Amino acid sequence: MRFGIDVGGTKTEIVVLSNSGEMIHRERQSTPDNYPDFLDSIQALIHVTEGRYGQTSNIGLCLPGAVSPDTGRMKNANTLYLNNQTVAEDLEQRLGRAVRLANDADAFALSEATDGAAAGARSCFGVIIGTGCGGGLVYNGQLIQGPNAIAGEWGHNPLPYYQESTDGPDQHCYCGRKNCIETFASGTGMAKRFREAHGFSAREIPDAKSVMARVQNADPKAIEHFNHYVDALARALAGVINVFDPEVIVLGGGMSNIQSLYPGLSNAVAQYVFSDQLNTRIAPAKHGDSSGVRGAAWL
Ligand SMILES: [Zn+2]
Repeated sequence: MRFGIDVGGTKTEIVVLSNSGEMIHRERQSTPDNYPDFLDSIQALIHVTEGRYGQTSNIGLCLPGAVSPDTGRMKNANTLYLNNQTVAEDLEQRLGRAVRLANDADAFALSEATDGAAAGARSCFGVIIGTGCGGGLVYNGQLIQGPNAIAGEWGHNPLPYYQESTDGPDQHCYCGRKNCIETFASGTGMAKRFREAHGFSAREIPDAKSVMARVQNADPKAIEHFNHYVDALARALAGVINVFDPEVIVLGGGMSNIQSLYPGLSNAVAQYVFSDQLNTRIAPAKHGDSSGVRGAAWL
């Protein structure tokens, strides 16, 4: 058995997977609003679950942030009280065993590479395109973890071939740079750019879904915007293929649910890859929202 825990901003989920990947148990509870309660709640969740199955297990945790390789402390977590904490060490002390951590994009990539859309492939780039734009790389069943703990974090590379005449005015990113891939490829960025290009309010176009509803209704502005989105995403993915050459790219997050994304995306990527032919398969996630928690279990 393997235990995986996914800590989200509002909900914390635990799953128990059999060694063959079957989900035996799944439970959700609220994420506490402070660190001592967070540690208590994880400890209690594990003890209760282990009591139920009468055995102990290794623990993997999926967290909304990264562990700084220099200090072992959390950084970039949007659950703010986790930042600067030594989460793995604190939990290991309480639980008396090793605890493995990964951020949500890495857990997603590992889950999809293990028994998801990239099962059986030697190499996989797992991409989350939702409110943000994360990524993780898996090779031979293992997450690639480098000295900066940023392998696969393509979202803050600059968008390739950016030109104001075709891509619109500079997009300023929260990270302090401009024209990051995330500002184009995330659902948030996709909706924001549509609003800015056509003078809509956030109430009229709250998210990418509302842009896609206009595409469904054959709104030419929305169709043009979506076609540009596919092209920008293709440029961004081609850059990763040129470096890592994965067998499969798995897309997750809100934007990955758009079925009309897939027919054109591979052709668009093929135009930008340094190869006469594209053999990389691009597929939607198999496990959807469960990938984070499943990836945590596979850690
Ligand atoms: Zn950025």
